[in-house]
This record gives sequence, C-alpha cells and structure tokens, in this order.
Amino acid sequence: MKNNISVFSECANCGACYNICPTNAIDVIGNGLFYELKVDSDKCIGCGKCITVCPINTPEKHQSIISAIGGFSKNSTMVKKSSSGGAFSVFAEYVLSNNGIVFGAAFNENSRYVEIKSTDEVPLDKLIRSKYVESEVGDSFIRVKQQLDNSRLVLFCGCPCQVAGLKRFLEKDYDNLITCDFSCGGLPSHKIYNDYLDELENKFNSKVGFVNFRPKTYGWETYAIKVEFENGREYNSLSLLDPFFVGFIHKHYTVRENCLTCRFADNHYADIILADFWLYRKFSSLQKGNGLSLVIINSNKAEKLFNIVKEKFEFENLELEKAVYNIKKPNYTEEFNINRKIFLDTYQKIGLSAINDYLPKRFSKLKIIFKNTIKKILKR
Ligand SMILES: Cc1cc2nc3c(=O)[nH]c(=O)nc-3n(C[C@H](O)[C@H](O)[C@H](O)COP(=O)(O)OP(=O)(O)OC[C@H]3O[C@@H](n4cnc5c(N)ncnc54)[C@H](O)[C@@H]3O)c2cc1C
Repeated sequence: MKNNISVFSECANCGACYNICPTNAIDVIGNGLFYELKVDSDKCIGCGKCITVCPINTPEKHQSIISAIGGFSKNSTMVKKSSSGGAFSVFAEYVLSNNGIVFGAAFNENSRYVEIKSTDEVPLDKLIRSKYVESEVGDSFIRVKQQLDNSRLVLFCGCPCQVAGLKRFLEKDYDNLITCDFSCGGLPSHKIYNDYLDELENKFNSKVGFVNFRPKTYGWETYAIKVEFENGREYNSLSLLDPFFVGFIHKHYTVRENCLTCRFADNHYADIILADFWLYRKFSSLQKGNGLSLVIINSNKAEKLFNIVKEKFEFENLELEKAVYNIKKPNYTEEFNINRKIFLDTYQKIGLSAINDYLPKRFSKLKIIFKNTIKKILKR
C-alpha cells in the first residue's frame, strides 16, 4: 500500500477520496458497526490524490453567515412530509422547475441503506425527510460534476462533511451549483439500524417497507418513528420508548465516533444550512404548525436563490446571533466518551439488548405514553 491508511483515522466517510481515486482503489466497507475505508494496495498507484482531496487533511475556513430566516413552506403537504418546515423542498422544486437536478439522501428499496441519489433516478419525494442513518455517497460527486459541466443547475444536499468533500472534489466554484447541508448531530451506525430492523421484522413477521423518522404523529416537536411493513402492519413509537432513537437522539452512543468531533459542524462549506427551528418561541412570533425550518444563508448565490423563492415561504428574518444557536459543535465530556465505549463494547457482545438499560422503566414509560396521548388528542 503506497498511501498509509492511518491518514484516514479521522475519516468522516465524506466520499471525496472514493470519488477522486483514478484506479478505484478505495472501497467503503460496512462489516463493522460503522462504514470504514479500505485501500486496495494492488490497485493503488500512490498518486496521493486521496490525501490532497480530503477536507480533514486540508481544512479550509468556509462559513460566513449572511442572513437567516425562520419559517415554513406554504405547501402544507410538503411541510407534513418533511422533517422541519419543508425548506429543502422549496429549493429543490425551484431547481427542478428550471430543468435542474437535485441530489440528496434516499433509502434503498427496503429502507435498509441510505445512499445519495438524484432526481434523475428517484422522485423528489424519496429525497425529502431526514434519514437518521450513515449514508453512502457512492460515485455521486462524479455525477454532480458531469451535470455541472453540462451546464445544468444542480442542488446537492447532504451532511456537512459530504458537502465539504464535494467542494474539495470539484476544486472550483460553479455558478450553477447550490449546496445545502444541515445542523448535523452525527450519523448513527448502519449496522445497529439494520439489527433494529431485523428485530422489528421478526416481531411483525414481515419485511420492512418504509421507515419514517419524522412522522409528526405527536406533532413536529416530539420525535417519533413509524415503520410500515409489507404485510400492511405498522410500528409506531415515541422516540423516548424506541431503542434505536434512545441510542441515537437521547444517548448519542450509536453515532459514528468521528461525528462527535466533527470539524464541519461549526464550519459549514454549504451555501445553505438547514435545521429545525427549535427556538422559535424565543426568537420569533411564528406559530409551529406542522414544523418550522431554520434557514441560514452562507453565500451570495444562496441569497439570490432565497430572494427568488421567498414567496413560497411564510417566514421571519432572524438576527444572526439568534440563528447560529443551532449550528455549534456539541461538547462531549470524558464521562460521555467512557460510557459510549462501554455501551458499544456491550453491543458487540449482546446486540440490541445493550440498549435496554437506557429505556424507561414501567412507571416512567406509562407517564410518557399518557402525556403524549393527550398531546396527540389535542393536536387533532
Ligand atoms: C442525521 C441528521 C441529524 C440532524 N441533526 C439535527 C440537529 O441536531 N438539529 C437540527 O436542528 N436539525 C438536525 N437535522 C436536520 C433536520 O432534521 C432537517 O433535515 C432540517 O431541518 C431540514 O428540514 P427540511 O424540512 O427543510 O428538509 P427535509 O425534507 O428533512 O430534507 C432533508 C435533507 O437532508 C438530506 N438527508 C437526510 N438524511 C440524510 C443522511 N442520512 N445523509 C445525508 N443527507 C441526508 C436529504 O437528502 C434532504 O435533502 C439533522 C438531519 C439529519 C439527516
């Protein structure tokens, strides 16, 4: 092997090296809990392109916020389907109506794996909504470049590290490219997610069809999960009672290690940052409805685009210092890191039951169900 794999030790799996390698010597392996890169030493010609393209090896200062808004799309169907206020869908629909192409994260057939796909392959509906699982970039950067070189308008939406990887891969700025990322707390293990689906399939005696991580069953602000099975049955759970969500959102133990120290979480390379506008009560007079997006504009290109599509939004302008609350890197304590390691070691031995210790016990469970059933009734 000519390129020492240790340079990948901080790897975010952004996809840049995979896309740039001229001999396809780099592969993404999914045998362990998290995706890992592997270099085939027989194919590697030692050109060093993978090292140079890596946004972790060659960090750049990118983020410079121009403006921010809180709001939601006037298309209520899209807001219901989207994770927050449907901001992504507004930008995506504009690009599509101009004969452009949108790249984003889509589930594969049985909602087992998440891959970056384009609207030339799947309908936009497949790209909207957050998929709380490690995603694979595949050769999408190469395909983005082809479209850009053909002068097509391109919107690429992915994790902050993926957008950083794409920008490094492209090497130059394109007027016809808009990039979009989100306030990303990190991606959970594809393996733990698949173990979780295996368990649900056994319980429901059917293959999984569709997974919705943001069904808004109890309203936008209450995380829940809905899994639809091929036999027509459904699993619905509040996130606080669901093992996958408890491991991810509530404990944060199942998140990829390098996401915990992500350097793109507070230095976004994207033109637009999206987030849930959780602090709407404090910073705006907006009503939550079925969800609110926080949209942060980072470039003149994005500002121009927002001005074109703004009549599709119900929104309020926000003061910058109020908007950035949600795009700061979280700090993890030493105690957290130790507990996460204990959890993952236990997981390797006993699988999903390792999460049981963190699920609420009977009385707290009943309290959570009672409180949220009232919420659901009030929502109706
Ligand atoms: C893993 C993850 C963690 C997040 N953490 C936070 C958080 O801590 N705080 C917060 O305010 N917001 C967070 N978000 C963002 C939030 O969930 C919404 O995606 C955002 O508010 C945009 O909502 P929307 O309604 O405009 O668009 P949506 O319809 O939700 O569109 C979301 C876009 O994200 C892309 N996407 C979804 N899943 C993935 C994935 N696995 N990999 C790459 N791209 C993906 C899709 O392609 C789509 O383009 C997170 C999102 C994800 C995917």
